[in-house]
This record gives sequence, structure tokens and C-alpha cells, in this order.
Amino acid sequence: MHRRIMAPGALAAASLMLAIPASAASHSPGAPGIGDPYYPAYGNGGYDVSHYDLRLKYQPATDELEGTATLLAKTTQDLSRFNLDFLLDVSEVRINGAKASFATSGEHELEITPKKPLAKDTPLTVVVRYRGVPSTKEAYGFNAWLRTPDGGVAAGEPEGAWWWFPSNDHPSDKATYDVSVQVPDGTQFVSNGTLQSTSSRAGWTRYSWRSNKPQATYLATFAAGKFDVTTGTSESGIPVINAYSKDLGDVAGAARASIERSGEITDWLSEYFGPYPYSTVGGYVPNTTTGYALETQTRPYYSPSNFANGSNTSVVVHELAHQWWGDLVSVKGWKDIWINEGFARYAQWLWSEHEGEGTAQEIADYVYASRAADDAFWKVRPGDPGPENQFHIAVYDRGALALQALRNEIGDDAFFTILKGWPAKYAYGNASVGDFVRYAEGVSGKPLAGLFDTWLFQASKPGAPAARSASIAKSAEVPVQPKSWKKIAATNEVHGH
Ligand SMILES: [Zn+2]
Repeated sequence: MHRRIMAPGALAAASLMLAIPASAASHSPGAPGIGDPYYPAYGNGGYDVSHYDLRLKYQPATDELEGTATLLAKTTQDLSRFNLDFLLDVSEVRINGAKASFATSGEHELEITPKKPLAKDTPLTVVVRYRGVPSTKEAYGFNAWLRTPDGGVAAGEPEGAWWWFPSNDHPSDKATYDVSVQVPDGTQFVSNGTLQSTSSRAGWTRYSWRSNKPQATYLATFAAGKFDVTTGTSESGIPVINAYSKDLGDVAGAARASIERSGEITDWLSEYFGPYPYSTVGGYVPNTTTGYALETQTRPYYSPSNFANGSNTSVVVHELAHQWWGDLVSVKGWKDIWINEGFARYAQWLWSEHEGEGTAQEIADYVYASRAADDAFWKVRPGDPGPENQFHIAVYDRGALALQALRNEIGDDAFFTILKGWPAKYAYGNASVGDFVRYAEGVSGKPLAGLFDTWLFQASKPGAPAARSASIAKSAEVPVQPKSWKKIAATNEVHGH
């Protein structure tokens, strides 16, 4: 692997190593990955970040981004050096005020070597000065930065952060954020949480956003462009901030007719999942050409194409359901993606029922009956789909089908107690599929390992006896397609590069 030394300090650090006392011999480099088998190089070992302060300047005309990231962290082992994940060009790194040397390695690693080794449990203030053109940077041959006619957007899963801030890029290290970005007057900047302030000077306007609850790196979002911003308050009192690119053309009406219902839908979801966990909600639609939407915390990202055929509240339900399923309670590892997608899809089924367009049971029956046993759909195991199938339709539809099987097995009372209790139990933290199985067994008082094995972990279609016993597709006939099916299917491309 090619390793490019960027600072002469690295040599000095190497000779310094010879001078450190024997007691520091246990100091070792932090791992270049946090230990996720799906993505071995994602995240890093040896420290934990609690806060990101990003103070940046962005020029839409050239896509140039520059500024300073200040990370508050704590070491979790004796460290001789540690990594951040990042692609832009770094000019200086300081640790607790002192200049550190740095180098790049791998696809997206920034290796930082402090002047002196760091003991376990040392509080760190890491300052990284950088600049670059995100649209020119690739890792693994791809670029997730979204360039628009009037700006740039970062909203990608699992990869999104590398193009705009240095981070420990894995959902298991969540942190709070202050994101303050200067853009030319007339351009807006939108991010997560609450807009704390705006100020203008010498042709530039600074927008300062705060996301004050723990947030995974892929859920941090950057959106610079010319937006119409709407504000309001949901019936239950949640402040709503939405933003729409001024050049959405024919989809502008359908996008607004969907996303302006974010407050209503958030209130409706909170009846199932418990109180909304953040200070604001909303959504934004820049003029991108992607096909997906993403549950960026408090402020989901939507593509114009989500509304190409008219309004679609189902996609809004999906992304807002993620605020509990994925954002409030995040995956421990990427293999746990069912905790996000199975439940966000099931919320769409509940919305269909609410709208009188087919019950969750009818949609589950339709999924089961309309997919033949030899359909590759059943080869995907939603409980551990593999990185290549992380966002396969089976994680969504088979994943939600598993929830209907669970509901039928344990009854509505226990099922809806679980939907409300889980987000509270693991609030602002992380959990795994295994944690969910144990939690569901605890609430229902029933052994459920067999049921979850059948519906989440077998690489085959559950047979007729299993379906009968879970009250799925009890009739021999293939049910009629539920009215909501096409609207829900239109959200199937919600993730992807
Ligand atoms: Zn989703």
C-alpha cells in the first residue's frame, strides 16, 4: 500500500519513539478500522469522539471547501498514533494545542502522530485545518459528494463524511455537532438540528447549525445551495424546518405537498414509537439527480425523483421513522441494518393502513405470496445480509414481513409495547439484531429464536407450515396488490450510491 508522508514531523516522531521511557512501550497505533467485518477500514480504534465543531467556508461556483474541524475525544487505549477517516487536503493538525505530524494511507485514512504518546483516558482536542474540492476526491473508485447546479450536498450511507469532515466514521461512535458554514450571500446552508444564528459580512453569510443529541457520522448532512426555507410547528409543538431548491421545476409542488406534512407525520409516528427525540424536524430537497432519500438526523435528504410521479408521503414516513429506528437507536455494526430498514419499511405499512390503502397484514401476505420460492429475494438474510446486500429489497420487504410474523406470534399488545419501548431503552445509543431478539423475548415472555431464525436468518423462503403458524398468507390464493404498493415500491431505491 502506498503511503504518502505529508509532514516532515513524521521522521522526528520516529526518532522520538526511541527516546520514550520503557513505561510507554505499551503505546501502540490505533487500529485503522473500528472492527466492523462488513467494512474493515471504516471508523478507527483507540479513541471515542464526543463532539465535532466544523467551521467551514464553501464556494458553490468552484466546489471549494475549506476550514477547521475541532474534535473533542478521549483515548480508549495507550496510543502512539491514531487515524481519522478523511479525503480532503490537510494543512495542519494539533492535539491539545501542540502540532502533530500526519500522513495519509489506505483509501481514506489520515494517520496522526502526536509529539508524545497518549495515555488511555486522555481528553483530546484535535484541530484539523483543511481545504479541497470534494467532487474531485474518490475512495474505492467512487465519489459520494453530490454536486448540484447551485452548490454541493453530503448525504450518503454508509459513506458521506469523508468528503467534508475528518471523523471516526462509524455509527458506533456517535457525537454532537456544531456545523457553521460560510457561503456567498444569496446561497443558503442547511444542516441538522437547529439554526442557531446567521450573520453576513463582506458578501458572505454564515449559517450556524447545532445537532445537540448524539448523531452518527453518516447522519450528519451538508447542503449548500439556493433554497426556499419554510418553517412551522407540528401540532404537538415540534419546530419544523424544511428547505427546497429553488430550481426543482415540475416536481416542486409534489415535493412540498409531501414534505410539508413532516410535522403531521412525526406526530403520528410518535404515537407508535414514543416521543420525538430531537429539537426540530423537517426535510430538504436539493436539485440532485440521485434516486434515493436518506434519514439524515432531524432533516432527511430527499431526491427530486422521489416526487417525479406526484406526492409521496410514504417516503416521508420511511425517513422520519428512521429518526427512531437508525438515528436514535443506531446499529452496533452494519450487519444490524435490519434494525433500521425493516422497521422504517414497516412504518410505511402502518401508514398504508392509516390511509386505508391496505393493512400491514395484507401487504405482508402480498410480499410472501408474490415472491416464488426460487426468487433470489429469499436468498438474502435480512438479519445479516452481507455488505453486498446491505440495502437489498429483501432487507426492507422481508424485514418488514418478519415483523408482521412477530406481531402475529406475540399479539398486538406486546408488539406495540416493543415498538415504543425499544427506542426508549436504547435511546441515543447503539443496538444489534441480537439485542432486539432478546428484548422482544423479554417483553412478550415467549421464546422467539426460532421465529427470527426462520424469517430473518434462513437463506430460503419460509415454508407453508411456518407461514401458517405465523398467520402469513393463510389463503391459498395470491392476494390482490394493496393500493399502497406502488407508492411504497417507489421508495425502494431509498439507499445506494
Ligand atoms: Zn431506509
